[in-house]
Amino acid sequence: MASSTRYAELHLHLEGCLDEEILREVAPQLDASLIRSRMRFESFAGFLDSFKFAVMQLREADQFRMLARRAFDRAASQGVVYAEVIHSAGVCLKRGLDAQAIAEALVDEGRKAPIEVRWIFDAVRQFGEEHIYETARFTAGFCGEDVVGFGVGGDEAGSPASALERGFRLAKEEGLKLTPHAGETSNAENVREVLRLGAHRIGHGIRAVEDPSLVAELVDRQIPLEVSLTSNVMTGAVASYAAHPLRLLHEAGVPIILNTDDPGFFCTTMDREFAHAQRLGLDDEALEQIRLNGFRFAFCPTPPA
Ligand SMILES: [Zn+2]
Repeated sequence: MASSTRYAELHLHLEGCLDEEILREVAPQLDASLIRSRMRFESFAGFLDSFKFAVMQLREADQFRMLARRAFDRAASQGVVYAEVIHSAGVCLKRGLDAQAIAEALVDEGRKAPIEVRWIFDAVRQFGEEHIYETARFTAGFCGEDVVGFGVGGDEAGSPASALERGFRLAKEEGLKLTPHAGETSNAENVREVLRLGAHRIGHGIRAVEDPSLVAELVDRQIPLEVSLTSNVMTGAVASYAAHPLRLLHEAGVPIILNTDDPGFFCTTMDREFAHAQRLGLDDEALEQIRLNGFRFAFCPTPPA
């Protein structure tokens, strides 16, 4: 059933839209029972395994194109009117795929989508400084109306924020907005470090709650956190929905944006994320403010909220 609420989603991984059904379409040569068994998981390690398995099936620009088309159709049917979609360009570069052809195909599909699409390309933090810089340079080559941001995801704990510095400087100079993942599974310090490097928004950032002075800085500077409740529970970033700091952060005045993150793997939608937020005790006014934040903190002008 189509959602009647209009959403702007600012943290949606293209590759995270893969699920069993879409994977069967983009990799028809794979055995259906293999797909079924590899796409089910019960732990964070299992999730990473499934994610890697699914992404490794994507090699050609046409497969990415097909995935994008399905992801946009789904988002549209779930009430999303505007999305800033994260594409792991860094993984394509690292795998030696034709990253240029893939990015061009995605931009083209984004223009044909039933929703407004803008792109954020991202690098993988633990692949190191040179990888992050090269991915930033690649992304800068696309900077314009379609590709508007640069981000970094991956393992926060194992790699220092200094590895992001050179890539972030280049991306910023080239006019890209920065939205790194930080403070998802590590600590508040990681959020502080990416703020120092010029982040405009933070992917997850929920560990900021551990440091009151950092919360105050997020409020003062109105830096939004891109929160994904189901993702945080399913990856073990928080122990349960009830333990999620969403309400605390919102009530402290931190701008919150709700998102699905990897909806193919986490079986979630924007409606479901808002329903979870409601169960955490956020009232209608708070939920509406959060919905509007998706439009307010977008990197580009959006359709009406
Ligand atoms: Zn993410």
